[in-house]
Amino acid sequence: MSGPRVLLRQLRETMAEPLASQDRLDKIVALIATNMHTDVCSFYVLRDDNALELFATFGLKRESVHMTTLRVGEGLVGLIAAQAEALSLEDAPSHPAFAYRPETGEDPFRAFLGVPVLRAGQTLGVLVVQNKDSRLYGEDETEALLTTATILAEMIATSEFDTLIKPGQDIDLRRPRMFQGQSFTEGIALGKVVLHDPRVVVTNFIAEDTEQESRRLDAALATMRVSIDDMLSHGDMGAGTEHRDILETYRMFANDRGWVDRLEEAIANGLTAEAAVERVQNDTRARMLRSTDPYIRDRLHDFDDLANRLLRVLTGDGTAPTHRELPENAILVARNMGPAELLEYDRTRLRAIVLEEGGSTAHVAIVARSLGLVAVGQAQNIVSICENGDDIIVDGPAGTVHLRPTRELEQTYADKVRVTAKRRAHYLALKDKPSVTRDGVAITLLHNSGLVADLPMLRDTGAEGVGLFRTELQFMIASRLPKVQEQVALYREAIRLSEGKPIVFRLLDVGGDKVIPYLRAAAEENPAMGFRSLRLALDRPGLLRTQVRALLTAADGGPMKILVPMVTETWEFVETKRVIRLELERLIRAGGKPPSELKVGAMIEVPSLLFELDHVLPECDFVSIGSNDLIMFLNAADRANNRVSKTYDPIALPRLRALRHIVDMAGRYGVPITMCGELAGRTVEALALMAIGMTRLSMSPPAVGPIKEMVMGMELKPIRTAVAAALGEGQHGVGIRELLVDLATRQGLVI
Ligand code: PEP
Ligand code: MG
Repeated sequence: MSGPRVLLRQLRETMAEPLASQDRLDKIVALIATNMHTDVCSFYVLRDDNALELFATFGLKRESVHMTTLRVGEGLVGLIAAQAEALSLEDAPSHPAFAYRPETGEDPFRAFLGVPVLRAGQTLGVLVVQNKDSRLYGEDETEALLTTATILAEMIATSEFDTLIKPGQDIDLRRPRMFQGQSFTEGIALGKVVLHDPRVVVTNFIAEDTEQESRRLDAALATMRVSIDDMLSHGDMGAGTEHRDILETYRMFANDRGWVDRLEEAIANGLTAEAAVERVQNDTRARMLRSTDPYIRDRLHDFDDLANRLLRVLTGDGTAPTHRELPENAILVARNMGPAELLEYDRTRLRAIVLEEGGSTAHVAIVARSLGLVAVGQAQNIVSICENGDDIIVDGPAGTVHLRPTRELEQTYADKVRVTAKRRAHYLALKDKPSVTRDGVAITLLHNSGLVADLPMLRDTGAEGVGLFRTELQFMIASRLPKVQEQVALYREAIRLSEGKPIVFRLLDVGGDKVIPYLRAAAEENPAMGFRSLRLALDRPGLLRTQVRALLTAADGGPMKILVPMVTETWEFVETKRVIRLELERLIRAGGKPPSELKVGAMIEVPSLLFELDHVLPECDFVSIGSNDLIMFLNAADRANNRVSKTYDPIALPRLRALRHIVDMAGRYGVPITMCGELAGRTVEALALMAIGMTRLSMSPPAVGPIKEMVMGMELKPIRTAVAAALGEGQHGVGIRELLVDLATRQGLVI
């Protein structure tokens, strides 16, 4: 039996003994030294003040335990922690980073081998062995020490050494962390982390029977490979899609000999199969995390997913996170997720979501807003740093996330929440006041909605109705296509809950990032510009007719407004109107009550339509600008890809001119126009829209209060004049945003 395996067996026995923490740790370092035939073995733990504290030693002076510290980057131990890499030296004192600590009596030791103690790629400490005589430790010895370090990492993470921590200090693993991300919503939430895709927790580290572990690994790898192959051969997955690319990458990794060899080596050293996966993944993460190349970092995600998949097979842990019991005040943390995935959670317990990726106009962000959740995106690397159940604060407006906050910070935020509650009360007091500017311009404020659950909010905001009801959200949360009667019931309920305020129902707008699992669609290279929305509806008129029938029926003889998404050319709108007319005639023939007033409008969100407004406007009872898609297509910058979408200010000259053109043309044809993209809910942007003549703004419900307050406090005419001049002058680089902020500030507006 090889050395490391004997060592791990002895470690397991030591861990089972009833020993005090320090005694256990002393015994562990002694065992390592004896087993590896070294004169010294020392174990350093990384504290929250960035110091590596000597927690135990065999061979150095005992008095230095809990006394000697090194900063990260200082000395050889600090270097290992900083680089998260093993270091093996024949003659340590001659290394430029060597730092002499007289209290440890370290000088006579020449040979040095140190490894980082890693968990999820994070350094938790350093483990070192030394010998008096100069020698070079072999790769086997490095591997053995790394394997032992995996066990120590777990002991740190499971609070094994907590009694050894001095008062007022803590280990780095529990250090409070701040992430500066991007604001997706207003609001502040305090709660507990729920990982959308939680890491599988390995509890059994040391193998009883190495051969058996090796067989378990082989079987799990085979199962995983088969499941990846199965998914790849699934009929509806075309070539070149993102999903397919990911799976291809998985398959490549899953068959990667180097990876499998390293897993097998870790098992040969005495770890269980799952501990081996964790151990190898730790190294991979630590290496990849140091890379600044976005491609490598993306691959890291793939590797993480793959390792997690393998762990699930090994541990049999297949519970979908959405079906787990959520704590009260759950705050969902994910690398990214689709809107449908978010909708699967128990909404009564969710307070916020935090994503590593995403953009503020991605549908998951929109859905989060419509559910009244606080949301922050672009919180780099948070998934690997947080654990289920960690305390977390999400500051929506600042776009910051505080993980494991200090008591003081928690107190500050609790106070802030009280202030926010006061602000909410203040907005609530505005709800029945007319939304009119000081110089008498009436601004109609409306909700963007999509779930029946958010309609009662109309009462709290005093909005005049729903400017955009995204019917697809209901389709996304259903497990199968809702039948006509189910749709009727849903739209009826929406109408009932709106208590007489008008709702604009938008026809199904699926595709792009709005995936409906049961509506099988062929995979596409660019789904946002693919077979989506109206294109799909006109191609599958059965679906369109069913929805129109349901809407006309649900009106129950009252008024009905239908909005047609993604109109690219006028004929598509005309064709949709024909389908609606046929359904209306059908309803009347069947003896049903037709709507008292039926209005059909087009969404202006495809740039091409801007050049045939003369054709489309006369056909429309009303129009609505979808700024999310329109701006994405104008800029050729994916709304869900933050790397590009935030580069171009949506209210800079070219975009604002395009928007003004639409408003002017609608005015010329006397067609009512609403803005229903996310722009309308942000103060400066809303100001820009009002400045170009837009008077109907539809937004997420929490935005109504702040926008209304601004409307009621402002004089619009001077702002209109100044913006018109700026747009007219057309100087390159005229900062519309700066101009608006300046004008608003001078009027004392809060923006
Ligand atoms: C838009 O594109 O601005 C819009 C309102 O529609 P959605 O965000 O649902 O695509
Ligand atoms: Mg759109």
